Amino acid sequence: MNFDRILVRYGEITTKGRNRNKFIDKLRKSVKNALSAFPKIKLEVSRDRMYVVLNGENEQEIIPILKKIFGLHSFSPAIKVERNINEMKDAALELVSSFYKEGNTFKVTAKRSDKTFELDTNEINQEFGAHILKHIPGIKVNVKNPDINLQIEVRKEAVYLSCETIFGTGGLPAGSSGKAMLMLSGGFDSPVAGYLAMKRGLEIEAVHFFSPPFTSERAKEKVIDLSKKLAEITGKITLHIVPFTEVQQAIHEQIPENYSMTVMRRFMLRITDELREKQEALAIITGESLGQVASQTLESMFTINEVTNTPIIRPLITMDKTEIIKIAKEIDTHDISIRPFEDCCTIFVPSSPKTKPRREKVNYYESFYDFEPLLQEAIQETESIIIKPNSKQLSEFSELF
Ligand code: ATP
Ligand code: MG
Repeated sequence: MNFDRILVRYGEITTKGRNRNKFIDKLRKSVKNALSAFPKIKLEVSRDRMYVVLNGENEQEIIPILKKIFGLHSFSPAIKVERNINEMKDAALELVSSFYKEGNTFKVTAKRSDKTFELDTNEINQEFGAHILKHIPGIKVNVKNPDINLQIEVRKEAVYLSCETIFGTGGLPAGSSGKAMLMLSGGFDSPVAGYLAMKRGLEIEAVHFFSPPFTSERAKEKVIDLSKKLAEITGKITLHIVPFTEVQQAIHEQIPENYSMTVMRRFMLRITDELREKQEALAIITGESLGQVASQTLESMFTINEVTNTPIIRPLITMDKTEIIKIAKEIDTHDISIRPFEDCCTIFVPSSPKTKPRREKVNYYESFYDFEPLLQEAIQETESIIIKPNSKQLSEFSELF
């Protein structure tokens, strides 16, 4: 079947009232970017849908790309015909025939957004149903659960015919919810958290704490590879690499062992929050999941969270590890996260970190030493790089500052 376009339905953004144009514009940009390798394609955008006009491109190559774009609810490969009953019938028959396999059932679903059309929806259903029954021997009607659902949509400018509805990812258009900082480790969880936040329309900048020589270049490479994966979604991502060795050593020397993990987390959060302010973002995203490890008990989160009142978004907070791993596989970060490496958090991790750290105690322990200059130095020395999906080596990344 030669489809001339793909009909794209927006989904949730249709409920966004006055912001709608802004949302649609972001969506148009996402689709345009994602399809930039197909220069013949044109987009027709209206308030309630978008048409990807194929101009000879193969819809089978386009659909997998559309499926990954946030903010798209569903799409249907379609043909556009004049509002002429004979022409519509020929096209409908050709379309259904191209899907028909022996024993298949069908139904017709007509929709009229323009009521001036000569037939109403019932009449369209009956007339086109009869036409198909007459010309495809053996085909039967099944209204409840048909194999082929011929959708005929009559609009003012033309009629659109389609037989398939393919579901997209949903979510909100990239960047339509503002910007947040993603605390990105090399583990399974934080890339998944970043992906889910992006799906909800957040633009993200990643922050990674790095402790050379205790953590190797390979650990850094892993985080860069994870960032590349996330960058595939929007074309690029900024990654801030924070040198954290001196802060960690000072914690190791100054803080009782069972509170060192709590203090380290508090400092990571403080530094991330300062970077957030510099980058004009409004939230911080982490890969925390309730109860997963000592730093993610409710008591730990309460004590760590004391250092900021910036919203912290934890997309995985109620998920089990198996659910998280499933998403990691779907978004292709699993095989990167599984590579062995030394995490800056595991190097100095005490054998028995406090699972119920208290705010008074941690403030008391932190009060004996002025960590502030070290935190400021870490911020100063942070390396910020722009990562694109196919950048090959570190040297190819352009330095931001
Ligand atoms: P992950 O799989 O994301 O590493 P985790 O289960 O290993 O998570 P933790 O190591 O306790 O859990 O980390 C909790 C969260 O803290 C991470 O999801 C991430 O958002 C943040 N985090 C941990 N280590 C780092 C790091 N080195 N740099 C930046 N953020 C980090
Ligand atoms: Mg981790």
